[in-house]
Amino acid sequence: MRGRVTDPVLPALAWIGLGANLGDARAALAGAVQAMARLPGTDVLRVSSLYRSAPVDATGPDYLNAVAALRTALAPQALLQALQALEQAAGRERPYRNAPRTLDLDVLLYGDQSIATPTLTVPHPRLWERAFVLRPLVELRPGWATPEQLQAVAGQRIECLGAW
Ligand code: ATP
Ligand code: CA
Ligand code: CA
Repeated sequence: MRGRVTDPVLPALAWIGLGANLGDARAALAGAVQAMARLPGTDVLRVSSLYRSAPVDATGPDYLNAVAALRTALAPQALLQALQALEQAAGRERPYRNAPRTLDLDVLLYGDQSIATPTLTVPHPRLWERAFVLRPLVELRPGWATPEQLQAVAGQRIECLGAW
Protein backbone atom coordinates (compact mmCIF):
# COMPACT_ATOMS: atom_id res chain seq x y z
CA MET A 1 0.00 0.00 0.00
CA ARG A 2 1.54 3.28 -1.05
CA GLY A 3 2.18 5.84 1.62
CA ARG A 4 1.64 3.44 4.49
CA VAL A 5 4.10 3.41 7.38
CA THR A 6 5.81 0.06 7.13
CA ASP A 7 6.83 -2.27 9.91
CA PRO A 8 10.51 -3.08 10.32
CA VAL A 9 11.77 -5.54 7.73
CA LEU A 10 11.42 -9.09 9.05
CA PRO A 11 13.06 -11.49 9.19
CA ALA A 12 16.05 -9.53 10.36
CA LEU A 13 19.72 -10.39 10.65
CA ALA A 14 20.67 -10.39 14.34
CA TRP A 15 24.13 -10.88 15.80
CA ILE A 16 24.32 -12.56 19.21
CA GLY A 17 27.26 -12.61 21.60
CA LEU A 18 27.57 -15.80 23.63
CA GLY A 19 29.65 -16.17 26.80
CA ALA A 20 30.03 -18.50 29.76
CA ASN A 21 32.63 -19.12 32.47
CA LEU A 22 30.88 -21.35 35.03
CA GLY A 23 30.22 -25.05 34.77
CA ASP A 24 30.64 -26.75 31.39
CA ALA A 25 30.90 -23.54 29.39
CA ARG A 26 31.50 -25.27 26.07
CA ALA A 27 28.37 -27.39 26.49
CA ALA A 28 26.37 -24.31 27.52
CA LEU A 29 27.39 -22.40 24.38
CA ALA A 30 26.77 -25.38 22.10
CA GLY A 31 23.37 -25.92 23.73
CA ALA A 32 22.53 -22.25 23.28
CA VAL A 33 23.29 -22.42 19.55
CA GLN A 34 20.99 -25.43 19.19
CA ALA A 35 18.30 -23.76 21.27
CA MET A 36 18.47 -20.51 19.26
CA ALA A 37 17.93 -22.57 16.10
CA ARG A 38 14.69 -23.84 17.65
CA LEU A 39 13.31 -20.37 18.44
CA PRO A 40 10.20 -19.50 16.41
CA GLY A 41 10.96 -18.12 12.97
CA THR A 42 14.69 -18.27 13.63
CA ASP A 43 17.62 -19.82 11.77
CA VAL A 44 21.23 -19.85 12.90
CA LEU A 45 23.09 -18.79 9.78
CA ARG A 46 26.67 -18.85 11.03
CA VAL A 47 28.63 -19.36 14.23
CA SER A 48 32.16 -18.11 14.86
CA SER A 49 35.02 -20.18 16.18
CA LEU A 50 35.16 -20.70 19.91
CA TYR A 51 37.32 -18.20 21.82
CA ARG A 52 38.80 -18.23 25.30
CA SER A 53 39.13 -14.83 26.98
CA ALA A 54 40.19 -13.32 30.27
CA PRO A 55 37.36 -11.73 32.29
CA VAL A 56 37.04 -7.98 31.60
CA ASP A 57 36.27 -5.76 34.60
CA ALA A 58 35.74 -8.93 36.62
CA THR A 59 37.45 -11.78 38.39
CA GLY A 60 36.82 -15.49 37.97
CA PRO A 61 37.61 -18.22 35.47
CA ASP A 62 38.39 -17.54 31.81
CA TYR A 63 35.39 -17.22 29.53
CA LEU A 64 34.45 -19.13 26.45
CA ASN A 65 32.92 -16.83 23.84
CA ALA A 66 31.47 -16.92 20.37
CA VAL A 67 29.22 -14.88 18.09
CA ALA A 68 26.27 -16.23 16.11
CA ALA A 69 24.37 -14.73 13.19
CA LEU A 70 20.63 -15.35 13.28
CA ARG A 71 17.94 -14.72 10.75
CA THR A 72 14.88 -14.16 12.87
CA ALA A 73 11.26 -13.10 12.57
CA LEU A 74 11.26 -12.27 16.28
CA ALA A 75 11.07 -8.56 17.01
CA PRO A 76 13.97 -7.22 19.08
CA GLN A 77 12.19 -7.35 22.47
CA ALA A 78 10.81 -10.82 21.76
CA LEU A 79 14.28 -11.98 20.80
CA LEU A 80 15.74 -10.56 24.03
CA GLN A 81 13.06 -12.31 26.09
CA ALA A 82 13.70 -15.60 24.30
CA LEU A 83 17.44 -15.31 24.92
CA GLN A 84 16.85 -14.49 28.59
CA ALA A 85 14.68 -17.60 28.89
CA LEU A 86 17.57 -19.65 27.52
CA GLU A 87 19.91 -18.03 30.07
CA GLN A 88 17.47 -18.94 32.85
CA ALA A 89 17.20 -22.51 31.61
CA ALA A 90 21.00 -22.71 31.78
CA GLY A 91 20.91 -21.69 35.43
CA ARG A 92 21.99 -18.06 35.00
CA GLU A 93 22.21 -16.13 38.26
CA ARG A 94 22.98 -12.42 38.69
CA PRO A 95 24.39 -11.98 42.20
CA TYR A 96 26.28 -8.82 41.18
CA ARG A 97 27.40 -6.96 38.05
CA ASN A 98 29.80 -8.89 35.80
CA ALA A 99 29.52 -11.97 38.02
CA PRO A 100 30.67 -15.28 36.59
CA ARG A 101 27.86 -16.89 34.62
CA THR A 102 26.68 -20.18 33.17
CA LEU A 103 25.39 -18.43 30.04
CA ASP A 104 25.17 -14.88 28.71
CA LEU A 105 23.42 -14.07 25.45
CA ASP A 106 23.62 -10.44 24.30
CA VAL A 107 21.96 -8.87 21.26
CA LEU A 108 24.94 -7.17 19.63
CA LEU A 109 23.26 -5.94 16.46
CA TYR A 110 19.75 -6.24 15.04
CA GLY A 111 19.67 -5.40 11.37
CA ASP A 112 20.74 -1.80 11.10
CA GLN A 113 18.43 -0.72 13.89
CA SER A 114 19.32 1.59 16.74
CA ILE A 115 17.25 0.76 19.80
CA ALA A 116 17.28 2.59 23.11
CA THR A 117 14.70 1.36 25.59
CA PRO A 118 15.03 0.72 29.34
CA THR A 119 15.54 -3.00 28.71
CA LEU A 120 17.26 -3.12 25.32
CA THR A 121 20.05 -1.05 23.77
CA VAL A 122 21.21 -1.96 20.27
CA PRO A 123 23.92 -1.89 19.08
CA HIS A 124 25.15 -3.30 22.38
CA PRO A 125 26.77 -0.24 23.96
CA ARG A 126 29.92 -2.02 25.18
CA LEU A 127 30.53 -3.99 22.01
CA TRP A 128 33.49 -1.85 20.89
CA GLU A 129 35.25 -2.14 24.29
CA ARG A 130 35.47 -5.92 24.15
CA ALA A 131 37.90 -8.10 22.25
CA PHE A 132 35.75 -11.15 23.07
CA VAL A 133 32.97 -9.57 21.02
CA LEU A 134 34.92 -7.81 18.28
CA ARG A 135 37.23 -10.71 17.42
CA PRO A 136 34.52 -13.33 16.73
CA LEU A 137 32.29 -10.72 15.08
CA VAL A 138 35.06 -9.69 12.71
CA GLU A 139 35.81 -13.36 12.01
CA LEU A 140 32.28 -13.58 10.58
CA ARG A 141 32.25 -10.05 9.14
CA PRO A 142 35.78 -9.20 8.01
CA GLY A 143 36.26 -5.48 7.78
CA TRP A 144 33.30 -4.67 10.00
CA ALA A 145 35.56 -3.12 12.65
CA THR A 146 38.29 -0.68 11.69
CA PRO A 147 41.95 -1.43 12.45
CA GLU A 148 41.78 1.34 15.04
CA GLN A 149 38.82 -0.30 16.75
CA LEU A 150 40.62 -3.64 16.87
CA GLN A 151 43.78 -1.95 18.10
CA ALA A 152 41.83 -0.42 20.97
CA VAL A 153 41.12 -3.89 22.43
CA ALA A 154 44.43 -5.49 21.43
CA GLY A 155 45.64 -5.53 25.06
CA GLN A 156 42.88 -7.90 26.15
CA ARG A 157 43.88 -11.54 26.42
CA ILE A 158 41.92 -13.71 23.99
CA GLU A 159 42.75 -16.93 22.14
CA CYS A 160 40.93 -18.49 19.22
CA LEU A 161 40.35 -22.18 19.97
CA GLY A 162 39.24 -22.92 16.42
CA ALA A 163 36.32 -25.15 15.56
CA TRP A 164 34.01 -26.26 18.37
P1 ATP B 1 26.77 -6.29 29.67
O1 ATP B 1 25.46 -5.75 29.18
O2 ATP B 1 27.76 -5.24 30.05
O3 ATP B 1 27.36 -7.29 28.72
P2 ATP B 1 25.71 -8.42 31.30
O4 ATP B 1 25.56 -9.15 30.01
O5 ATP B 1 26.41 -9.09 32.40
O6 ATP B 1 26.44 -7.02 31.04
P3 ATP B 1 23.03 -8.86 32.10
O7 ATP B 1 22.89 -9.03 33.58
O8 ATP B 1 23.10 -10.12 31.28
O9 ATP B 1 24.28 -7.95 31.80
O10 ATP B 1 21.84 -8.02 31.52
C1 ATP B 1 21.37 -6.87 32.18
C2 ATP B 1 20.26 -6.25 31.35
O11 ATP B 1 20.77 -5.69 30.15
C3 ATP B 1 19.19 -7.19 30.86
O12 ATP B 1 18.18 -7.36 31.83
C4 ATP B 1 18.66 -6.51 29.60
O13 ATP B 1 17.39 -5.94 29.79
C5 ATP B 1 19.66 -5.39 29.36
N1 ATP B 1 20.08 -5.19 27.98
C6 ATP B 1 20.11 -4.00 27.36
N2 ATP B 1 20.55 -4.09 26.11
C7 ATP B 1 20.82 -5.41 25.90
C8 ATP B 1 21.30 -6.14 24.78
N3 ATP B 1 21.62 -5.50 23.61
N4 ATP B 1 21.44 -7.48 24.90
C9 ATP B 1 21.14 -8.10 26.06
N5 ATP B 1 20.67 -7.47 27.18
C10 ATP B 1 20.52 -6.13 27.10
CA1 CA C 1 27.15 -9.47 28.34
CA1 CA D 1 23.72 -10.09 29.04
